[in-house]
Amino acid sequence: MADPAERLLADTAAAWGLPLNPDQLRQFARYADELLAWNARANLTASTDRQAIYVRHFLDSLALARFWGPPPATLVDIGTGAGFPGVPLKILHPALTVTLVESVGKKTAFLTHLIGVLGLAQVRVVTGRAEALGRDPGEREHYDVATARAVADLRVLAEYALPLLRVGGLLLAPKGADAAREVEGARHAMTLLGGTIERVVPIELPGIEPRTLVVARKVAPTDPRYPRAVGLPARRPL
Ligand code: SAM
Repeated sequence: MADPAERLLADTAAAWGLPLNPDQLRQFARYADELLAWNARANLTASTDRQAIYVRHFLDSLALARFWGPPPATLVDIGTGAGFPGVPLKILHPALTVTLVESVGKKTAFLTHLIGVLGLAQVRVVTGRAEALGRDPGEREHYDVATARAVADLRVLAEYALPLLRVGGLLLAPKGADAAREVEGARHAMTLLGGTIERVVPIELPGIEPRTLVVARKVAPTDPRYPRAVGLPARRPL
């Protein structure tokens, strides 16, 4: 393992109790290659060196798996962009069934290509809006875990994610260093949608600014009024 970025990924993940085998490390290397190759076309990431991709995308995504307890069976990643955090979590737990939701077609074209070259099974790419998915009876109240990184304010995310979760399921939302005000501002929306904020955990990643993970649990079914029509959750947050 000559690449220092790969070593950092392997060592940090192992220290978190998430060991990666050589096949998984090869999948991450290929993911970085594809991201860099497609970046100009699909505007996928601001990170253009491998070290930054490995820390800001791969490790930041994998950190979520430290907080979900026994591995879930189903995960929906809302506003996944180039696949974060959903695809690294799928590489970590190959048995996971993953739905990647993204409204921008160029990004979902990348994702469809990526899951093909990585040979990932049971990953579905949906080009569309989270609000539309949340009103689909086949998707609603279905998932064990919902993730969303850098997509919207927490009270907006709550309306995107909670309808998709089964009762008992978890929303994992990575945030910047100081999420306190955002968390306070989301408590009302969480209650309205059947959720509760369980933990706000500081996350340390090697060599970059600290991050925070918001862990919310769905504790009651979501009122059928939610999510509201596409665009409304962001325009008029609860
Ligand atoms: N989660 C990725 C990451 O952390 O690298 C992408 C973050 S990017 C800043 C936010 C993405 O969310 C964009 O690609 C945008 O198209 C998508 N998005 C925002 N609102 C959405 C919605 N309601 N439904 C689906 N995708 C959405």
